[in-house]
Parts: sequence; structure tokens; C-alpha cells
Amino acid sequence: MEGKMRLLTKEEAGAMVKKLEESYPNTKYYLDFKTPLDLLVAAILSAQTHDELVNKITPGLFGKFKSAKDYASASEAELLKYIKPVSFAGNKAKNIINAAKTIDGKYGGKVPRTMDELISLPGIGRKTANTILINAYGIVEGIPVDTWVIKLSPRLGLSMEKNPDKIEKDLMEKIDRKYWHDIAYVLKRHGKALCKAIPECSKCPVKDMCPKNGVKKAI
Ligand code: SF4
Repeated sequence: MEGKMRLLTKEEAGAMVKKLEESYPNTKYYLDFKTPLDLLVAAILSAQTHDELVNKITPGLFGKFKSAKDYASASEAELLKYIKPVSFAGNKAKNIINAAKTIDGKYGGKVPRTMDELISLPGIGRKTANTILINAYGIVEGIPVDTWVIKLSPRLGLSMEKNPDKIEKDLMEKIDRKYWHDIAYVLKRHGKALCKAIPECSKCPVKDMCPKNGVKKAI
């Protein structure tokens, strides 16, 4: 049976998000890091790469490169020794080195704490900037829109947009601000657990609220 594609009202979305948050308690960000710089580097490495792989290679990388200056003065080849297994390693190495040069030269070696400054760095878009602000500094300015948020938002009736910035805007309008810091990670857990390509709707905690309930194929 084909489910209706429809956007939830703010009230409906609020109830759904509250239920999801309760269903996946203690949700944490999934990349390992100790410093804002570690997080920035891990987040750049994680694009189109499994978190498990990033978490596997970063201890060696973070052990060797401890400051923006360390990365800024590294060659691409040196960095590649540590990050080669990730996808687009060459581009990511360039972005990390160039971002580190800006952080070292313009921001005194400290990862900036504002959206505008962060998105001016190479390889950093709003998703990564939100991730850094939330997880490194506890500053909640928006919602990181990752592939899971992009996948699940239309299915759950939270946004029908395709552009991540527009999806973020829709979510910010529909979701209570107190959930912004972890809703992306809650959706990821839900996507991996139940709301898969073929969703397990009968087990789903929000099945009574979901516009896609009952659809047996991927959207
Ligand atoms: S598992 Fe089914 S009911 Fe639950 S959110 Fe996904 S599509 Fe909707």
C-alpha cells in the first residue's frame, strides 16, 4: 500500500521527534575526538566514509598531528600515510592542510567558534560547522544535515526539500530547539535500527505518526 507523501504539521513533527528522542536515549556523536581540531579533521575525513573507519585511523593521526601548525606544515604525502583508507583521501588531505593554515595564520591556532568563520574554511560546509559548534563548543546554531537526515526527512514528513540547507531550515522550523543538538544522531540511529531501505514499520515507535508507514520499498 502506498503511503501518502505529506509534510507533518509543527505539532505532529514535535510529537514524533519527542517520541524518537525518548526511544533512542543517550544518543552521542559518533566520531572520536579530544579537541576541536581533532573533531574538525575527523569530520572532514568522515564525508562518504564509514565512521568506524574514521575512528580506526584517527588515533594514529591525532597522535602525530596535535596542532593546526602540525597539519599546516605537513605535506599531502605525509598526511596520506595516515588517512589513505578514507575515500577522496587526496582532496581531504588538501582541505585539512589548507584549513589548518587558515586556523594557524588567522585564528591563532584555535578552531573558530562561529558559523561564518567555520564555513569559510576549505572542506567545511554547514553540516560540519554545525557538528563542530555543537560537539566541540556546545553552541547550537542549527542542525547538522547528514546523509541520514537527508534520507529520513521526506519519509518522516519533516521536509520534502533536497538541498541540505533547505532541509535544515525546514527542520529548524518544525523541531523544538532543545532537540537540535542531537536530532541528526537520533535519526541516524533510527535509520540504522528500523527505518532502513526496507523499513521495519511494525516495530517502529513512531509508526502511528509516520506518513510513510506501510510502504515496503525504499523512497
Ligand atoms: S520505520 Fe516505518 S513507520 Fe517508522 S519512521 Fe520509518 S517509515 Fe515511518
